[in-house]
Amino acid sequence: MKLSIDQLSETPTPQAFAVTPEWWRASGGAAAEVAEAIGEAVEFRVEAHRMGVDVFLEGEASGALELACGRCLARYRAPILERFRLVLEPAGHRVPADPEGAAALARDGLFLADELESGWFRGSPIDLSAFIHEVIALLLPVQPLCREDCRGLCPHCGADRNAESCNCVEKNPASPFAALEVLRGGSSGGGNR
Ligand SMILES: [Zn+2]
Ligand SMILES: [Zn+2]
Repeated sequence: MKLSIDQLSETPTPQAFAVTPEWWRASGGAAAEVAEAIGEAVEFRVEAHRMGVDVFLEGEASGALELACGRCLARYRAPILERFRLVLEPAGHRVPADPEGAAALARDGLFLADELESGWFRGSPIDLSAFIHEVIALLLPVQPLCREDCRGLCPHCGADRNAESCNCVEKNPASPFAALEVLRGGSSGGGNR
């Protein structure tokens, strides 16, 4: 997604961009699992305007991600809404200290600071793809859960404990009976009374 800096005025200009898995791969988005999580429905909206020599961007990523639950493995849709603000200063003759940042400024006309709230631009148009990548990658949960209290799969028989209960006995190492059962060589599960 390109942004024509030289056409911006002090009135915000709205733009919308559909984020697709195909675009993610083609534009060099890092994590492949993000491309899998992007359904048909992630939209990136941005309003940009000039503030003196700076450029101010404000917008949101919205829609849903399609994730696999870390406990029961079920696929589920997670609604997303992430708002952002980004202030860009003209880079002038400055060069970012880190080589990656310098390469991004040369390639995209955009260098992002660590917090994703500020950065530098150079020339026009600038390419916002790297920024879109960052915003959406941050939306991926570290531990995806289909619901807060997902009971997961039984480690013994694989039954989905959200849907059915199985007869496997939870081995409780704190219980003296469990230790006794190990001594007896009984490891096949089943109730002990
Ligand atoms: Zn689950
Ligand atoms: Zn079981």
